[in-house]
Amino acid sequence: MSKVARGVPLVLSAPSGGGKTTLCHRLVDELASIEFSVSHTTRSPRGKEVNGVDYHFVDDSEFKSMIDAGKFLEWAEVHSKRYGTGLEQAESRLSQGTDVLFDIDIQGGHQIAERMDDAVLIFILPPSMSVLEGRLKGRGTDSSEQIEKRMQAAAQEIKAATGYTHWIVNDDLDAAYEELKSVVV
Ligand code: ADP
Ligand code: 5GP
Repeated sequence: MSKVARGVPLVLSAPSGGGKTTLCHRLVDELASIEFSVSHTTRSPRGKEVNGVDYHFVDDSEFKSMIDAGKFLEWAEVHSKRYGTGLEQAESRLSQGTDVLFDIDIQGGHQIAERMDDAVLIFILPPSMSVLEGRLKGRGTDSSEQIEKRMQAAAQEIKAATGYTHWIVNDDLDAAYEELKSVVV
């Protein structure tokens, strides 16, 4: 029996509002060989988000039980909520040869890089901080208090994104997407 080549772990990070979700959806829609890793989170669904599709929405105690049971490949606290990637799901897809796309923050990206030396780390940058703020406001899903928190975190995240090997500026969406696709392909 021939051995299946392991899939590639693709980590995509950006400050909130940087365009990760938009770019990730486009990538998994177009490239059938890539599967999106659905994270667990303790935050509430926003807008049209669907449980099990965008996230697995869980409460604090379920998240804690998963940590205690060693069920996360990585997890982190982001904007006062917890987010984590299920180990079993990710590993089984990778070992079957499927490339897996992780839309996670830089704390999670660093944890995955430590555990998987074949991980590809991609960071999406907004063209400027004022454009980022405009996009967060335009998305219409966060309160002004949340937007302020996210803007404060953004500058720190950009500074701390060491170890990321590919940096893409998301100014024109189509151009950023083509650049992302060329890295992945
Ligand atoms: P993230 O998942 O990183 O928080 P989103 O993908 O939700 O970011 O993007 C934030 C907002 O900015 C969304 O309303 C999205 O439609 C918009 N957006 C993303 N990329 C661009 C772009 N290149 N030009 C204009 N608007 C964009
Ligand atoms: P949002 O609440 O806007 O969906 O996500 C907030 C941040 O959490 C984003 O930077 C997103 O990439 C990150 N995130 C989503 N899922 C995970 C995860 O499983 N692990 C980690 N470490 N971060 C995640």
